[in-house]
Amino acid sequence: MADIDPVTLTQALIRCPSVTPVDAGALGVLEDALKPLGFTCHRLPFSAPGTPDVDNLYARLGTSGPNLCFAGHTDVVPVGEQAAWSHPPFGAEISNGILYGRGAVDMKTAIACFAAATARYLGEQGDAFTGSISFLITGDEEGPAINGTPKVLEWMKANDEVMDACIVGEPTNTTTLGECIKIGRRGSLNGFITQHGTQGHVAYPQHADNPVPKLVKLLSALSIATLDQGTAHFQPSNLEVTTLDTHNPTTNLIPNAAKAGFNIRFNDLHTSASLKTWLSDALNTVGENFDLDIQVSGEAFLTPPGLLSDVMSAAITTVTGLTPELSTSGGTSDARFIKDFCPVAEFGLMNATAHKIDERVDVADIHALTDIYVEMLRGYFARA
Ligand SMILES: [Zn+2]
Repeated sequence: MADIDPVTLTQALIRCPSVTPVDAGALGVLEDALKPLGFTCHRLPFSAPGTPDVDNLYARLGTSGPNLCFAGHTDVVPVGEQAAWSHPPFGAEISNGILYGRGAVDMKTAIACFAAATARYLGEQGDAFTGSISFLITGDEEGPAINGTPKVLEWMKANDEVMDACIVGEPTNTTTLGECIKIGRRGSLNGFITQHGTQGHVAYPQHADNPVPKLVKLLSALSIATLDQGTAHFQPSNLEVTTLDTHNPTTNLIPNAAKAGFNIRFNDLHTSASLKTWLSDALNTVGENFDLDIQVSGEAFLTPPGLLSDVMSAAITTVTGLTPELSTSGGTSDARFIKDFCPVAEFGLMNATAHKIDERVDVADIHALTDIYVEMLRGYFARA
């Protein structure tokens, strides 16, 4: 079995300037690493009106279950001010044991570590390996996420490609490798209220109907409400008022409307549908003559602790000595699509330099992350 050096492969991936939605050869670099291991590779380009065309890769080794899938993305965000980088963003230069480049933590290195870990694990298993290992890699995670993971998942379903568990390599740790596994995410919903009134002169309020105090009453009702107390794996759901506007530059005018916006980050005790019902009930109890518009960014989800998180935690402890927190904090990732197909959890590098100037990774952490993924493969196929 061919060995893969995760540092060399990371460098080759970073040297492809795959700023979303451009591939720039990145998926081909990964394919070239996986094919010698015996993977069957499917390139899956998708397009949709009004969105950029995107190339994706689904690769699988083995035909029987269980199928453990490694998921991630080869696209990266733009470099920002190139002159501000201390090393070229697509140079993948190593200086004093630190590898610099766009995608170093989010998340080309994790993909290289997936591949290197797979090569090592298959090498030690030889003919004894009976399950399947797959890679679901998109070029559309940092973009609109229309022609990426959701469409690959549809393609997999149509082709009877079943995953039994999925590890996403997004950077999950804050400062130390091994701190944190993400097993879910809060949902997010944005609300916009327009309180209607009647415009008039502040000196003759009897001829007007001021919407501002009415809007304040609505917002007050929302702000003092307790949505829940949190759960074992989620912090309490929270509503934050984000803006309140009348766009009124004068001092003597009662405006005819006032608008406000708010965001709710919610746990798995709620859905966007249940929150819509709650919002309209709560607002209708204290006010009238307003419009409520709601935009849902995503539902809450949780992979309850079990085989996948146990195997991942044990692997992290074996390599780092740390016991990772099982967290649902932070922003969104493609795990939100994968969760409808199989248990999914995320573990990768540190996120401190993600999307920043001088994005970088300690070379020692590249080797440690590879060791952790090898342990995850050992643990999963020993128990699944
Ligand atoms: Zn990412």
